[in-house]
Amino acid sequence: MRELRFDNRFVRELPGDPVSGRHVRQVHGACHSRVEPTPVRAPRLLAWAPEVAELLGLDATDVLDPRFAEVFGGNALLPGMEPYAACYGGHQFGNWAGQLGDGRAITLGEALNPQGQRWELQLKGAGPTPYSRMADGRAVLRSSIREFICSEAMHHLGVPTTRALCLVATGEQVVRDMFYDGHPRPEPGAVVCRVAPSFIRFGNFEIFASRGEEALLQQLIDFTIDRDFPELVEAEADPVVRRLRWFEEVCRRTAVLMAHWMRVGFVHGVMNTDNMSILGMTIDYGPYGWIDDFDPDWTPNTTDAGGRRYRFGHQPRIAQWNLWQLANAVYPVIQQVEPLERALAMYADVHEAENRRMTQQKLGLETWREGEGGEEGEDGALVAELHRILQAGEMDMTLFFRRLAELDVAQPDPVHVDELFGEVFYEEARRNEVAAAFQAWLARYAARLREEGVPAALRKARMDAVNPLYVPRNYLAQQAIDRAEQGDASGVVELLEVLRGPYAEQPGREAFAARRPDWARHKAGCSMLSCSS
Ligand code: AMP
Ligand code: MG
Repeated sequence: MRELRFDNRFVRELPGDPVSGRHVRQVHGACHSRVEPTPVRAPRLLAWAPEVAELLGLDATDVLDPRFAEVFGGNALLPGMEPYAACYGGHQFGNWAGQLGDGRAITLGEALNPQGQRWELQLKGAGPTPYSRMADGRAVLRSSIREFICSEAMHHLGVPTTRALCLVATGEQVVRDMFYDGHPRPEPGAVVCRVAPSFIRFGNFEIFASRGEEALLQQLIDFTIDRDFPELVEAEADPVVRRLRWFEEVCRRTAVLMAHWMRVGFVHGVMNTDNMSILGMTIDYGPYGWIDDFDPDWTPNTTDAGGRRYRFGHQPRIAQWNLWQLANAVYPVIQQVEPLERALAMYADVHEAENRRMTQQKLGLETWREGEGGEEGEDGALVAELHRILQAGEMDMTLFFRRLAELDVAQPDPVHVDELFGEVFYEEARRNEVAAAFQAWLARYAARLREEGVPAALRKARMDAVNPLYVPRNYLAQQAIDRAEQGDASGVVELLEVLRGPYAEQPGREAFAARRPDWARHKAGCSMLSCSS
């Protein structure tokens, strides 16, 4: 296996924990604790992402070298790696939770690829760290498959995300009580190697603010700007103004990210501030889910079933709440309330603009009309009515937008509509309930498109470029997991293969585009997930 070049700025430039060892503790005055992965019994490579290997300057020969599974299972280090766990805190389900930290993630180092790009390599499930609290530092195969698949799917969908290089089985069992209901059982364990320019979270800043460690807070902010936002260093000389520009940029990126999640139908499931990337990327794939039938109130996370704080339609507002917590945390080194408040207001504006732009693209509208239509404007009202129908009719979000691109706008008669949207509905009764409203909406939409006069083929091409056909539906991931738990990882490899091209039809792979089958409606792993992973 080829050598990688490392330049470990995080551990080199930021203060580390003076205490060593893996025992659980509160870590003060430090950004990280040096800790090595705990070796596993029999590391075995199950799957890998060729695009991510390429980012690192690696190819198939490197990946298939036995040493690769040793390194990325946590049994060996490459020269230049300096493993550590990061210290951070977070607000969980709306409450300050104190110190959390990398309890089962261990960063191996910051690799510089041949183009000079920096990629942090992080193992998830690599064993205990000082931040493991009551838990074992490990991860089960099912959630590792989910993280591996979804990170890569998101990338190919065009959504900012951390990446995943590989999935390694550990050959060890991990005991989990999947629904915290007194039924623990042993499950196969695994390690995922995640890859991103940085894994710094909102919580990395919050922990120092909460402890009044302002010098360290300032040091971490300035480090983050210098390493991960170099364009801001060039643009602004004044350090305080620069920190403000940085906060604005975090708000802007987060706003764009939320619009993408709503576009593709992704529900994160645990938007705690320790799961919010400072780079505005999707991070920490846990009990996430994908929208099948359009339902803004849906959450996949059974741990959140009570308040449904992290339900689909609520995500943009939660992100803003999380940014408020970040604003509070960084206030001591900016010392001005108003500009921080303006940045938070700007978040809402950017999100609204991006959301509108993406909605417009999803519908294939060339222009956006404010015009008549009450408070929402003409097209705003069109969209609101569509969302009402999609929800009331329990219609599959992904299939709906793909079929809509094929609508004959010259003649959207009922027979054509029935044929076109047949598979979009989950239940006949719901379909009948919205039939008239749906027909009326389509007539309105078709009239709107006729006025714009964009040729049908062009409109379809544009719509298909933003409305995916293949998304990692919960039941698809679960099928791959069931097979992998029986020892056959080929389902993971095949699913990844499909999700590498989510927008183009793949002949022979129609099954991967099918709506959720009935058996998966209320099945564990398909519609119900928990934080236990
Ligand atoms: P999450 O809800 O997965 O974002 O995790 C919240 C916190 O719990 C983080 O500090 C994790 O590192 C920690 N954590 C989750 N699972 C484990 C585990 N199996 N062992 C140690 N720490 C864990
Ligand atoms: Mg987390």
